[in-house]
Amino acid sequence: MRLWVAVWAARLVGLVSRISGRGGSSLPGMVARRIDPLVLSKLVSRLSKGVILLTGTNGKTTTAALAASLLQCDGHPIVHNQAGANLIVGLTSTMVQAEKWRVYPRAALALLETDEASMPRAGQETHPRAIVVTNFFRDQLDRYGELSTTVGMVRKAISQMASDGWLVLNADDPQVAFLGQDQQHVIYFGLDLPVNATLEETGDDVVDARFCPRCGQALRYRQRYYAHLGDYSCPNCGWSRPIPHWTATLWDKQSHIVTVRHGNDLMELPMNMPGIYNVYNLVGAVAAAMTQGLPAHEMGRCLEHFEPAFGRMEQVMIRDHQIWLALVKNPVGFTQVLEAVGDWPESSKWALIAINDRYADGQDVSWLWDVDFETLGPRLGIDQWWVSGMRAYDMALRLKYAGIPDEKVHVVENPNIALDMMVDQSTRTVTIYVMPTYTALLDLRQHLTQKGYTRHFREG
Ligand SMILES: [Zn+2]
Repeated sequence: MRLWVAVWAARLVGLVSRISGRGGSSLPGMVARRIDPLVLSKLVSRLSKGVILLTGTNGKTTTAALAASLLQCDGHPIVHNQAGANLIVGLTSTMVQAEKWRVYPRAALALLETDEASMPRAGQETHPRAIVVTNFFRDQLDRYGELSTTVGMVRKAISQMASDGWLVLNADDPQVAFLGQDQQHVIYFGLDLPVNATLEETGDDVVDARFCPRCGQALRYRQRYYAHLGDYSCPNCGWSRPIPHWTATLWDKQSHIVTVRHGNDLMELPMNMPGIYNVYNLVGAVAAAMTQGLPAHEMGRCLEHFEPAFGRMEQVMIRDHQIWLALVKNPVGFTQVLEAVGDWPESSKWALIAINDRYADGQDVSWLWDVDFETLGPRLGIDQWWVSGMRAYDMALRLKYAGIPDEKVHVVENPNIALDMMVDQSTRTVTIYVMPTYTALLDLRQHLTQKGYTRHFREG
């Protein structure tokens, strides 16, 4: 009875807040938890296949969206939270809203993207059947503090996993791979790309985690794809990268095909997104989906119509202009987005960087100084830089110090106005890359929706 009241009160609140246009994905979860603190546990206990939690610093949203595409492909509905609703109240909102009339579960499985800080609670309340970890980077300085704190939060969740649960780990990230030590059921994913497909040394190394998690010695890399991700071993204690079960072995950027190896099988999977980090997202999603026994030969078909989640290298057309949107939130992620922009072959590129400093963006914008504009700036092929948002002038200063000429940099504080100006002033041959922080992305989304330019949004 209490559960029933919690669910329906929450759904009513959700309905009212949507009608009044306030959005807000956390409110229903808050209401439900206030009425019945066990609401999340109770709801997930009804799922016959249980819960998969997916966490990590970067790539959560895209990996979860890819995995959801795979899992839904055989016609079985799953519950999947929207980007941004990844705190414990957001997970609760998602589950509450997935319930049918009379509180029968609509799906057998929930795939929940979960913020690292919410992992201990989420683990405790859902006893997941699988936990997927993408990578660990230092996020913005003012968020969770040290990397070891973040790793510890994920460890807590792992200790709450169902006894037959699977850990799905990025073998190429030492801190992530080390979570699999002494665990029974571990599936590793990673990259084994030919050397020429890897990135040049860009100084995107924000120190982070290039040390052996077992003995603390500096790791030696046989191959490094970006930051601390690659094929490593410890010269001191001998610990080395676990051999991945799912490995991306080839990435054909022209035909947008990634080849994934599993044992002796090779699969060619479509991936129409730039950036080597998306190869990780893809192979991670495949490994996650396979915990549910999906037929491997179906995967290519399942991914053919995949569309990136909003703002994760999503493409939007505005009056014949091609616009790419890519959320930026920390130094490694931003550097990787720039790498992807440099990789993409268009002849003329303009960039709009919109930096806000509200709580959800991170209030300390000093992380912009850790983004490697110095190395990347000259070889991105960007003709015009527009900077915008509440911290537009900090960003302009950052570009100035990176040696980008003043005459190429335009400051327009309102991102929406900046984007409109860019579309007006550019020709159709120009591709516009929009790189906003989180709340700037939300503002831009609203603007694009009002103008009728966006077709779909996964985000709430
Ligand atoms: Zn070691």
